[in-house]
Amino acid sequence: MTLVGHLINGQMVASDDRTQDVYNPATGEVSKQVALASQATVAQAIDAAQAAFPEWRDTPAIKRARVMFKFKELLESNADKICALIGDEHGKISHDAAGELQRGIENVEYACCAPELLKGEHSKNVAANIDSWSEFQPLGVVAGITPFNFPAMVPLWMYPMAIVCGNCFILKPSERDPSSTLFIASLLKEAGLPDGVMNVVNGDKDAVDALLHHKDVKAVSFVGSTPIAETIYTTANANGKRCQALGGAKNHAIVMPDADMDNTVAQLLGAAFGSSGERCMALSVVVAVGDAAADSLVSKMQEAMKGLKVGACTNASNDFGPVITRQHQQKVFGYIDSAEKQGATIVVDGRNPQIQGYENGFFVGGTLIDNVTVEMDSYQAEIFGPVLQVIRVDTMQKAMDIINDHEYGNGTCIFTRDG
Ligand code: NAD
Repeated sequence: MTLVGHLINGQMVASDDRTQDVYNPATGEVSKQVALASQATVAQAIDAAQAAFPEWRDTPAIKRARVMFKFKELLESNADKICALIGDEHGKISHDAAGELQRGIENVEYACCAPELLKGEHSKNVAANIDSWSEFQPLGVVAGITPFNFPAMVPLWMYPMAIVCGNCFILKPSERDPSSTLFIASLLKEAGLPDGVMNVVNGDKDAVDALLHHKDVKAVSFVGSTPIAETIYTTANANGKRCQALGGAKNHAIVMPDADMDNTVAQLLGAAFGSSGERCMALSVVVAVGDAAADSLVSKMQEAMKGLKVGACTNASNDFGPVITRQHQQKVFGYIDSAEKQGATIVVDGRNPQIQGYENGFFVGGTLIDNVTVEMDSYQAEIFGPVLQVIRVDTMQKAMDIINDHEYGNGTCIFTRDG
């Protein structure tokens, strides 16, 4: 069986680390093994990055940017392969995978502007015979820790910019779908990046802890769930590292009585169920203002959801695929169960999806829940599945108050004709 290893100092390394199963979530079968880096493996990657740093730091910004130009071309010419790797391990349908890759490539395009972005400032004669200037300096070895749901895009938020600015990078991707991330990073060598500048260590908490405690890692960028984001931020800071840590979300839509309900439903279908709801920006709650708006929305949504096609990534006409693991599927089912027990109305029930030929896959059908209230567990939590919940209120002010009070409430949109 294929073992997904690490990229250290320009070489694919499959060391004698522990391993973990990687699944094809559409079939429910183990498709590969991934190596879980030990502290020693992580230290090896950091040493390679530290050794590569002086020469890379001193490489002119225009030469570093040229690597990014070539990298962008390689991402585009390998797009089909990358999307297939994402589909195999994440389950995302090709149109979603292509969208994610495109968003990632846009970050590489931005990194190509580094020579302009790295310009400093010079102020003459700020005091008698004294000039003052500022300039950008790379930090050295920096690290990124990324989630499973965007295995191409989220890492590409981090390392193209860090590298083009002269830093060396250690990426610790999600161990649940590591192959596309590793393949993309390997393209940097073909783009002309010197060995050691970009390294990937696959792994779990042990690898993350090794990064957070190593003295040569100067900064950490994290994207993932909120509890882990909080731990990473606290630990990185305690160890004197710069850190940015992005966590989970719960995104709401307010639907006003005057909304164009057909357009609202069309938008919500993609926003709530696209990528099986496994997006930090998935729109998972509708706050409908007035019972008439709620009734109209729920009945039109119920009708529209009959057309949703759920299945494997190999069929490009499917709307969305499975969720990432059996454990996550059960967790999503559990939230639907709890909403039902706590008094909500299950209008469309995705707990028993029938996907012909994929009976063991980790599928959750599109689910619509009405009469949800703010105390319910399903409302409080980030479900991260294809579940849309409807809360009914009688004023727009109440809708805004609910959203503002949610622990994770961030993305908000409003459907109305009143511009
Ligand atoms: P996760 O927090 O489980 O894992 C993220 C990373 O942290 C992985 O690399 C994982 O190996 C590592 N990790 C997990 N447990 C750890 C531990 N105990 N100690 C140290 N490291 C640990 O997140 P996930 O399930 O992979 O991703 C989904 C989450 O990411 C959702 O909450 C989603 O909202 C969030 N997300 C946020 C954004 C954003 O921009 N804010 C973007 C994408 C995803």
